[in-house]
Amino acid sequence: MKIAMVTGASSGIGLAICKKLIAMNYRVYGLARDFSKTKFKHAEFKTLTCDVTHSKQLEQCVDDVFENEKQLDVLINNAGVGFFAPHEEIKVKDIERLVQTNLQAPLVLTRLVLRKIKQSEGFIINIASITAVKSSPIGSAYAATKAGIKHFSDSLFDEVRKYGVKVTTILPDMTKTPFYDGLHFKEHDDADSHVTSECVADAVETILSQRKGTVVTEMIVRPQKHQIEKKKKNDK
Ligand code: NAP
Repeated sequence: MKIAMVTGASSGIGLAICKKLIAMNYRVYGLARDFSKTKFKHAEFKTLTCDVTHSKQLEQCVDDVFENEKQLDVLINNAGVGFFAPHEEIKVKDIERLVQTNLQAPLVLTRLVLRKIKQSEGFIINIASITAVKSSPIGSAYAATKAGIKHFSDSLFDEVRKYGVKVTTILPDMTKTPFYDGLHFKEHDDADSHVTSECVADAVETILSQRKGTVVTEMIVRPQKHQIEKKKKNDK
């Protein structure tokens, strides 16, 4: 049985990826702070409660996984947060959380498991965002973390491709998840104007299903139409 680790496994895209991997016969170790958000249970879904911004907690999770497993085939760095405001107004603590969650944590976790991924000639899939390659006013700090993770993926692939490691960035556009719960805007309800978590999980399946020797290094997933929904002040 193949083994995967997925961060941000309690909700949205990460949870959909866990379900997809289990359907593909993986045992999945999911990391998040609060699994009470999901009712999903499965014998091959192993939950590890962890704040990915604390490197010591990440180290502990990695130790817990390798107490039970000899190998790791897939790492999915998905956990992420979004804070959006004009840059002169965004809170400094929110900038820190953006960088720690969206950029520092994937770099640290990748460092902690890379040797095992090399041994299995496995996959590292980083969930960035369309904002990694598109300017994002009112989201400059968020976009910077996503451009950072994309550049990390590209550079890491060139560093480790000779060892058989595959590194991919997925860049989803607006996806219907709880990501927007605390924000002043959200994906549009029209089915043509957002993608779903399952679409992003399907992208993961495609990436993992290539012939040996072919690597999908980047995948952009966008809705057919571009519309966002601004929330009324009290809806937030
Ligand atoms: P979501 O439903 O809010 O999921 C975010 C996940 O990240 C949750 O499982 C959350 O778990 C976890 N997380 C956040 N902070 C964490 C921390 N400090 N430690 C551990 N886990 C943490 O949002 P989503 O849309 O699925 O987002 C997943 C990824 O997709 C993010 O990287 C996001 O930037 C990216 N993305 C989303 C969209 C979109 O439109 N939704 C578009 C492009 C990219 P806990 O709160 O339980 O810890």
